[in-house]
Amino acid sequence: MTVPSRAVSPSAQKSQPASARPQVQHQTVIVRTPVLRSQGARTLCPCCQREIYTNTNKKASIWAWISCCVICCIGCFCGCCFIPLCMDTCQDTEHSCPECGTDLGTYKAF
Ligand SMILES: [Zn+2]
Repeated sequence: MTVPSRAVSPSAQKSQPASARPQVQHQTVIVRTPVLRSQGARTLCPCCQREIYTNTNKKASIWAWISCCVICCIGCFCGCCFIPLCMDTCQDTEHSCPECGTDLGTYKAF
């Protein structure tokens, strides 16, 4: 009994087109990033994968310093120039993870 040496199925004889590659399944993971505001926000930490409420750290924005300089230049030296540095609306807010300390972003005042 002889077995033909070219016993190949008809489908394998054709040259495979580029689209016939083994399909790689892509799994899309959607992580909802909250809009960071001047208050702490509830989110999922990308580093430790825990659901956390962000720690916030206020810092005077560049515009607060510019306002300070402008007020100083127009002649208000008696402490008025420091008002923008104390105003909450002129502060940038840095958000970080309370569990691992990862920086999650900064809310810019302007
Ligand atoms: Zn974390």
